[in-house]
Amino acid sequence: MQRIYRGRFAPSPTGPLHFGSLVAALASYLDAKKHNGEWLIRIEDVDGSRCKKEHAQSLISALSSYGLLSDLPILKQSTRFELYENTLQSLNTQKKVFPCHCTRQSLKTYQGRHPHICSPNISNTEKPSSEHSWRLLTNQKAIFEVNDPIQGHLLFDAEKLQNNPILKRKDGFFSYQLAVVVDDHAQEITHLVRGSDLLDTTTEQLYLYSILDWEPPSMCHIPVILDSNGNKVSKQNHAKALLAGDKLTLLTALKYLQITNISPALHIQEILQLAIKKWNPEKIQQSKSIQLKPEDCWL
Ligand code: GLU
Repeated sequence: MQRIYRGRFAPSPTGPLHFGSLVAALASYLDAKKHNGEWLIRIEDVDGSRCKKEHAQSLISALSSYGLLSDLPILKQSTRFELYENTLQSLNTQKKVFPCHCTRQSLKTYQGRHPHICSPNISNTEKPSSEHSWRLLTNQKAIFEVNDPIQGHLLFDAEKLQNNPILKRKDGFFSYQLAVVVDDHAQEITHLVRGSDLLDTTTEQLYLYSILDWEPPSMCHIPVILDSNGNKVSKQNHAKALLAGDKLTLLTALKYLQITNISPALHIQEILQLAIKKWNPEKIQQSKSIQLKPEDCWL
Protein backbone atom coordinates (compact mmCIF):
# COMPACT_ATOMS: atom_id res chain seq x y z
CA MET A 1 0.00 0.00 0.00
CA GLN A 2 1.30 3.44 -0.97
CA ARG A 3 1.87 5.49 2.19
CA ILE A 4 1.26 9.23 2.05
CA TYR A 5 4.39 11.32 1.94
CA ARG A 6 5.53 12.40 5.37
CA GLY A 7 8.85 14.16 5.86
CA ARG A 8 10.50 15.72 8.88
CA PHE A 9 13.22 18.01 10.13
CA ALA A 10 14.79 16.62 13.27
CA PRO A 11 17.27 19.04 14.84
CA SER A 12 19.24 18.29 18.00
CA PRO A 13 18.82 21.29 20.30
CA THR A 14 22.50 21.92 20.96
CA GLY A 15 22.42 25.52 19.73
CA PRO A 16 20.29 28.08 17.88
CA LEU A 17 19.20 27.73 14.24
CA HIS A 18 22.12 28.49 11.91
CA PHE A 19 22.41 28.81 8.16
CA GLY A 20 23.33 25.15 7.55
CA SER A 21 20.31 23.91 9.47
CA LEU A 22 17.98 26.38 7.75
CA VAL A 23 19.08 25.00 4.37
CA ALA A 24 18.45 21.43 5.58
CA ALA A 25 15.07 22.36 7.08
CA LEU A 26 14.02 24.06 3.85
CA ALA A 27 15.07 21.10 1.70
CA SER A 28 12.96 18.66 3.72
CA TYR A 29 10.03 21.11 3.86
CA LEU A 30 10.05 21.88 0.12
CA ASP A 31 10.30 18.21 -0.81
CA ALA A 32 7.37 17.33 1.45
CA LYS A 33 5.19 20.17 0.19
CA LYS A 34 6.10 19.52 -3.46
CA HIS A 35 4.71 16.00 -2.93
CA ASN A 36 1.60 17.40 -1.19
CA GLY A 37 2.85 15.68 1.89
CA GLU A 38 3.08 16.45 5.58
CA TRP A 39 6.15 17.94 7.19
CA LEU A 40 6.98 17.48 10.85
CA ILE A 41 9.47 18.94 13.25
CA ARG A 42 10.93 16.55 15.83
CA ILE A 43 13.26 17.70 18.58
CA GLU A 44 16.09 15.18 18.94
CA ASP A 45 17.05 15.85 22.53
CA VAL A 46 17.78 12.21 23.29
CA ASP A 47 21.24 13.08 24.60
CA GLY A 48 20.34 14.98 27.74
CA SER A 49 23.98 15.80 28.41
CA ARG A 50 24.29 17.88 25.20
CA CYS A 51 20.82 19.25 24.55
CA LYS A 52 19.17 22.25 26.16
CA LYS A 53 15.49 23.13 26.57
CA GLU A 54 16.06 26.78 25.64
CA HIS A 55 17.66 25.75 22.34
CA ALA A 56 14.66 23.56 21.51
CA GLN A 57 12.36 26.53 22.00
CA SER A 58 14.59 28.90 20.04
CA LEU A 59 14.85 26.40 17.14
CA ILE A 60 11.07 26.06 16.97
CA SER A 61 10.54 29.85 17.06
CA ALA A 62 13.27 30.47 14.48
CA LEU A 63 11.76 27.88 12.12
CA SER A 64 8.33 29.40 12.53
CA SER A 65 9.73 32.89 11.79
CA TYR A 66 10.72 31.44 8.39
CA GLY A 67 7.22 30.05 7.86
CA LEU A 68 8.30 26.47 8.66
CA LEU A 69 5.54 25.08 10.86
CA SER A 70 5.09 21.46 11.82
CA ASP A 71 1.88 19.87 10.47
CA LEU A 72 1.56 17.73 13.62
CA PRO A 73 2.41 18.36 17.27
CA ILE A 74 6.16 18.52 17.78
CA LEU A 75 7.58 15.43 19.51
CA LYS A 76 10.57 15.56 21.79
CA GLN A 77 12.73 12.47 22.08
CA SER A 78 13.29 13.12 25.79
CA THR A 79 9.66 12.11 26.36
CA ARG A 80 9.93 8.83 24.44
CA PHE A 81 12.44 6.76 26.39
CA GLU A 82 9.84 4.09 27.09
CA LEU A 83 9.44 3.42 23.39
CA TYR A 84 13.22 3.12 22.91
CA GLU A 85 13.44 0.82 25.94
CA ASN A 86 10.70 -1.42 24.51
CA THR A 87 12.51 -1.65 21.19
CA LEU A 88 15.76 -2.46 22.98
CA GLN A 89 14.01 -5.18 24.98
CA SER A 90 12.52 -6.68 21.86
CA LEU A 91 15.98 -6.71 20.21
CA ASN A 92 17.31 -8.32 23.37
CA THR A 93 14.68 -11.05 23.24
CA GLN A 94 15.75 -11.72 19.67
CA LYS A 95 19.43 -11.86 20.76
CA LYS A 96 20.34 -8.93 18.53
CA VAL A 97 21.90 -6.78 21.23
CA PHE A 98 24.12 -7.59 24.16
CA PRO A 99 25.09 -5.99 27.46
CA CYS A 100 28.61 -4.61 27.51
CA HIS A 101 30.67 -3.93 30.62
CA CYS A 102 33.74 -2.68 28.77
CA THR A 103 35.19 0.61 29.90
CA ARG A 104 37.04 3.18 27.85
CA GLN A 105 40.17 1.98 29.62
CA SER A 106 39.61 -1.67 28.68
CA LEU A 107 39.01 -0.70 25.04
CA LYS A 108 42.18 1.36 24.84
CA THR A 109 44.16 -1.51 23.35
CA TYR A 110 41.56 -1.68 20.57
CA GLN A 111 41.78 2.06 19.79
CA GLY A 112 38.36 2.55 21.35
CA ARG A 113 36.74 0.09 18.96
CA HIS A 114 34.72 -2.80 20.26
CA PRO A 115 35.91 -6.03 18.69
CA HIS A 116 33.06 -8.30 19.83
CA ILE A 117 34.91 -9.11 23.05
CA CYS A 118 31.77 -9.17 25.17
CA SER A 119 29.76 -11.19 22.70
CA PRO A 120 30.63 -14.63 24.11
CA ASN A 121 29.24 -13.60 27.49
CA ILE A 122 25.84 -12.64 26.23
CA SER A 123 23.20 -13.29 28.79
CA ASN A 124 19.87 -12.71 27.23
CA THR A 125 18.05 -13.32 30.44
CA GLU A 126 19.40 -9.99 31.58
CA LYS A 127 16.98 -7.07 31.27
CA PRO A 128 18.29 -3.73 29.99
CA SER A 129 19.55 -1.80 32.99
CA SER A 130 21.56 1.29 33.46
CA GLU A 131 24.57 -0.50 34.95
CA HIS A 132 26.11 -1.23 31.60
CA SER A 133 25.75 -0.22 28.02
CA TRP A 134 23.89 -2.15 25.34
CA ARG A 135 25.57 -2.80 22.03
CA LEU A 136 24.25 -3.92 18.70
CA LEU A 137 25.31 -7.37 17.55
CA THR A 138 26.48 -6.79 13.99
CA ASN A 139 26.78 -10.33 12.72
CA GLN A 140 24.45 -10.18 9.72
CA LYS A 141 25.87 -9.67 6.28
CA ALA A 142 23.91 -7.35 4.04
CA ILE A 143 24.39 -4.63 1.50
CA PHE A 144 21.72 -1.95 1.59
CA GLU A 145 20.91 0.03 -1.54
CA VAL A 146 19.63 3.58 -1.60
CA ASN A 147 18.63 5.54 -4.67
CA ASP A 148 19.33 9.04 -3.53
CA PRO A 149 17.94 11.73 -5.87
CA ILE A 150 21.05 13.87 -5.25
CA GLN A 151 23.86 11.48 -4.31
CA GLY A 152 22.86 8.77 -6.80
CA HIS A 153 22.89 5.01 -6.29
CA LEU A 154 24.48 4.32 -2.89
CA LEU A 155 25.52 1.05 -1.28
CA PHE A 156 25.87 0.61 2.48
CA ASP A 157 27.75 -2.50 3.53
CA ALA A 158 26.83 -3.95 6.95
CA GLU A 159 30.38 -5.39 7.14
CA LYS A 160 31.54 -1.84 7.91
CA LEU A 161 29.72 -2.07 11.27
CA GLN A 162 32.55 -3.88 13.01
CA ASN A 163 32.36 -1.70 16.04
CA ASN A 164 29.22 -2.98 17.81
CA PRO A 165 27.61 0.44 18.09
CA ILE A 166 26.16 1.38 21.46
CA LEU A 167 22.35 1.61 21.50
CA LYS A 168 22.04 2.51 25.16
CA ARG A 169 24.78 4.11 27.16
CA LYS A 170 25.80 3.19 30.68
CA ASP A 171 24.35 6.50 31.92
CA GLY A 172 20.92 5.48 30.63
CA PHE A 173 20.78 7.62 27.48
CA PHE A 174 19.76 5.96 24.24
CA SER A 175 21.84 6.48 21.13
CA TYR A 176 20.74 8.87 18.42
CA GLN A 177 20.79 5.93 15.99
CA LEU A 178 18.23 3.90 17.90
CA ALA A 179 16.01 6.89 18.68
CA VAL A 180 15.97 8.22 15.13
CA VAL A 181 15.02 4.85 13.65
CA VAL A 182 12.34 4.15 16.26
CA ASP A 183 10.83 7.63 15.85
CA ASP A 184 10.92 7.73 12.06
CA HIS A 185 9.16 4.37 12.06
CA ALA A 186 6.65 5.30 14.80
CA GLN A 187 5.84 8.61 13.10
CA GLU A 188 5.47 6.87 9.73
CA ILE A 189 8.07 9.06 8.07
CA THR A 190 8.29 8.05 4.42
CA HIS A 191 11.06 10.37 3.21
CA LEU A 192 14.24 11.69 4.79
CA VAL A 193 15.80 14.77 3.24
CA ARG A 194 18.84 15.76 5.30
CA GLY A 195 22.49 16.79 5.19
CA SER A 196 25.10 14.52 3.63
CA ASP A 197 27.01 14.56 6.95
CA LEU A 198 24.43 12.00 8.09
CA LEU A 199 25.47 9.51 5.40
CA ASP A 200 28.02 8.17 7.90
CA THR A 201 25.21 7.12 10.21
CA THR A 202 23.08 5.58 7.49
CA THR A 203 24.57 2.06 7.49
CA GLU A 204 23.73 1.62 11.15
CA GLN A 205 20.23 2.97 10.63
CA LEU A 206 19.57 0.68 7.66
CA TYR A 207 20.93 -2.24 9.66
CA LEU A 208 18.49 -1.45 12.47
CA TYR A 209 15.59 -1.21 10.02
CA SER A 210 16.57 -4.57 8.62
CA ILE A 211 16.81 -6.43 11.96
CA LEU A 212 13.61 -4.80 13.21
CA ASP A 213 11.95 -5.82 9.96
CA TRP A 214 10.74 -2.27 9.30
CA GLU A 215 10.62 -0.56 5.93
CA PRO A 216 13.18 2.27 5.81
CA PRO A 217 12.14 5.66 4.44
CA SER A 218 13.41 6.93 1.07
CA MET A 219 16.52 9.01 1.51
CA CYS A 220 17.94 12.13 -0.07
CA HIS A 221 21.10 13.83 1.17
CA ILE A 222 21.83 17.44 0.33
CA PRO A 223 25.40 18.83 0.24
CA VAL A 224 26.35 20.41 3.58
CA ILE A 225 27.43 24.05 3.58
CA LEU A 226 31.10 24.72 4.36
CA ASP A 227 32.39 28.03 5.72
CA SER A 228 35.38 29.90 4.28
CA ASN A 229 37.74 27.65 6.30
CA GLY A 230 36.22 24.53 4.79
CA ASN A 231 34.43 23.57 8.03
CA LYS A 232 30.80 22.53 8.08
CA VAL A 233 28.54 25.44 9.08
CA SER A 234 27.44 23.81 12.32
CA LYS A 235 26.93 24.40 16.00
CA GLN A 236 30.24 22.67 16.75
CA ASN A 237 31.99 25.22 14.55
CA HIS A 238 30.18 28.09 16.26
CA ALA A 239 27.96 29.01 13.33
CA LYS A 240 26.09 32.25 13.94
CA ALA A 241 22.48 32.27 15.10
CA LEU A 242 20.21 33.52 12.31
CA LEU A 243 18.14 36.66 12.42
CA ALA A 244 14.46 35.78 12.85
CA GLY A 245 12.35 35.76 9.69
CA ASP A 246 14.95 37.55 7.56
CA LYS A 247 14.01 37.44 3.88
CA LEU A 248 17.55 37.95 2.61
CA THR A 249 18.69 34.96 4.69
CA LEU A 250 15.79 32.89 3.35
CA LEU A 251 16.51 33.79 -0.28
CA THR A 252 20.21 33.04 0.23
CA ALA A 253 19.39 29.65 1.74
CA LEU A 254 17.16 28.89 -1.24
CA LYS A 255 19.99 29.82 -3.62
CA TYR A 256 22.03 26.92 -2.12
CA LEU A 257 19.12 24.67 -3.08
CA GLN A 258 19.29 25.99 -6.67
CA ILE A 259 16.16 28.11 -6.24
CA THR A 260 16.68 31.62 -7.55
CA ASN A 261 14.80 34.54 -9.13
CA ILE A 262 12.38 35.12 -6.30
CA SER A 263 11.63 38.73 -5.51
CA PRO A 264 12.59 39.97 -2.03
CA ALA A 265 9.46 42.13 -2.21
CA LEU A 266 7.32 39.05 -1.57
CA HIS A 267 6.23 37.95 1.90
CA ILE A 268 7.88 34.92 3.49
CA GLN A 269 4.82 32.73 2.84
CA GLU A 270 4.77 33.78 -0.84
CA ILE A 271 8.49 33.10 -1.15
CA LEU A 272 7.93 29.60 0.24
CA GLN A 273 5.03 28.93 -2.11
CA LEU A 274 7.15 29.89 -5.11
CA ALA A 275 10.09 27.89 -3.77
CA ILE A 276 7.88 24.78 -3.54
CA LYS A 277 7.03 25.16 -7.24
CA LYS A 278 10.69 25.61 -8.15
CA TRP A 279 12.10 22.83 -5.93
CA ASN A 280 13.86 20.14 -7.93
CA PRO A 281 16.50 18.06 -6.13
CA GLU A 282 17.90 16.91 -9.46
CA LYS A 283 19.19 20.44 -10.02
CA ILE A 284 21.39 20.14 -6.94
CA GLN A 285 24.97 19.14 -7.64
CA GLN A 286 25.91 15.56 -6.75
CA SER A 287 28.35 16.50 -4.03
CA LYS A 288 28.77 16.00 -0.30
CA SER A 289 29.46 19.67 0.37
CA ILE A 290 29.21 23.14 -1.06
CA GLN A 291 31.35 26.13 -0.10
CA LEU A 292 29.69 29.30 1.17
CA LYS A 293 30.23 32.00 -1.46
CA PRO A 294 32.38 34.95 -0.30
CA GLU A 295 29.41 37.32 -0.65
CA ASP A 296 27.41 35.14 1.80
CA CYS A 297 30.03 34.96 4.54
CA TRP A 298 28.02 37.38 6.70
CA LEU A 299 25.71 34.48 7.48
N1 GLU B 1 19.25 15.15 14.95
C1 GLU B 1 20.22 15.06 13.89
C2 GLU B 1 21.07 16.32 13.87
O1 GLU B 1 20.65 17.37 14.35
C3 GLU B 1 19.58 14.90 12.52
C4 GLU B 1 18.90 13.60 12.36
C5 GLU B 1 18.44 13.25 10.95
O2 GLU B 1 18.07 14.16 10.20
O3 GLU B 1 18.40 12.08 10.64
O4 GLU B 1 22.16 16.25 13.34
